[in-house]
Amino acid sequence: MIAIRGATTIESDCGGQIKERVKELLCEIKAKNGLSDGDFVCIVFTSTADIRSYYPAKAAREAGFAFCPLFSALEPDIESALKLCIRVLVFAECKAPAKHIYLHAAAALRKDISQRINIALDGPAGSGKSTVAKILGKKLNILCLDTGAMYRACALKCIKENVSVFDEPAVAALMDGIALEVKYVEGEQRTYLDGQDVSAEIRKPEVSMLASSVSALGCVREKMVALQRQIASKTSCILDGRDIGTNVLPDAQFKFYLTALPEVRAERRAKENLQKGYDIPYGQILKEIIERDERDKNRKIAPLTVAPDATVIDSSYMTVEEVVAFIENKMQEKI
Ligand code: C5P
Repeated sequence: MIAIRGATTIESDCGGQIKERVKELLCEIKAKNGLSDGDFVCIVFTSTADIRSYYPAKAAREAGFAFCPLFSALEPDIESALKLCIRVLVFAECKAPAKHIYLHAAAALRKDISQRINIALDGPAGSGKSTVAKILGKKLNILCLDTGAMYRACALKCIKENVSVFDEPAVAALMDGIALEVKYVEGEQRTYLDGQDVSAEIRKPEVSMLASSVSALGCVREKMVALQRQIASKTSCILDGRDIGTNVLPDAQFKFYLTALPEVRAERRAKENLQKGYDIPYGQILKEIIERDERDKNRKIAPLTVAPDATVIDSSYMTVEEVVAFIENKMQEKI
C-alpha cells in the first residue's frame, strides 16, 4: 500500500469551488498514479480553519469517489500557514512509488515534490555522497545519478582496450565509440559499458585511481557532462559528483558540498572495501584518497571546488541519517 499526499487551494470559501478543486485534485492523483477505483483504500482530507462552507469528503463523494471510506477534519488555525488550503492523504494499493500532487497555490508548499528540482551534491571521495544521495533520492522519489560511476566506466574502458589514460588522443578515440549507458533496475543505478553491466567491476580499487586520471581529460569530461545534463534535463534528480554545482548544473536549486577529514573518509572506504572483499591496508587507502583529492582539486578542467552558493557539510562526526536530515531541513528552509 502507498500513501499519496496532495493539496490544493481555493480562492474563496464557497461550496462550488471546493467541489471543483477537490474533484480536480483527486482526478489528478488517480491519473498520475495510474489508479483504478478498486485500488483506493481510503481518502483523508484536512482543510484550513478558514474553509467552512463544505466538507471536502462530501465533495469527493459527489465527484464519484464514494467507493472507499472518506473522511475530513479541520486543521488548527496557524498564523503563517497557507490560507484556504485543502490537504489530502490517499491510501491506495499500488506497487509504484507515490506521485504526490500539489495544485494551485499549494504547489508552493512542497516544491521539492511538486516541481522539477535538481540537487547538486559534490565532495571528495569517501565523504558519503553516494550513500546520502541514494537515501535522498528514495525519500524524495527522484532519480539519483552517481556521476562518478560514469568516469569509472571510462577508466574501465581504457583498461579493457589497453589504452593509457595519459595518452589523450588515444582516449579521445575511445570516447568517440564508447557505448556508455545508465539504467535503473528496481530503482538502483546500473552502469552499462558496451552493452555489459559493469556496476560491480567499476568499484574495483584500481579503477578508482584511474578514474580520477581519466576524468581530468577534456575529451572525457565533455562527453560525460553532456550525458549528465541530458539525464538531468528530463526529470527531478540528485546528482553526486565533483563538479555538479560548479559546472554540470550551475543553476541547480539546491547545492551541497559534503566533506570529511581524510582519515575518516579512508576508514569508511576501508570498511566498504572489506565488505566487497578487498582487503587493502588503511595506510594505502589514506594515501590514495589524499592523492585523488589533490588530482581532483588541482586539475585544469572543472576541478573539485565548493560552489559559492553551496552549503558545506562536514560529515566527519555525523551519521548518514544526520546528514540526510540536515539536507532535508535546508531544502525546506529554502522552499
Ligand atoms: O565518486 P567516485 O569516487 O566514484 O568518482 C570517481 C572519480 O571520478 C573521482 O575521483 C573523480 O576524479 C571523478 N569524478 C569527476 N567528476 C564527477 C564525478 C567523479 O571528476 N562529477
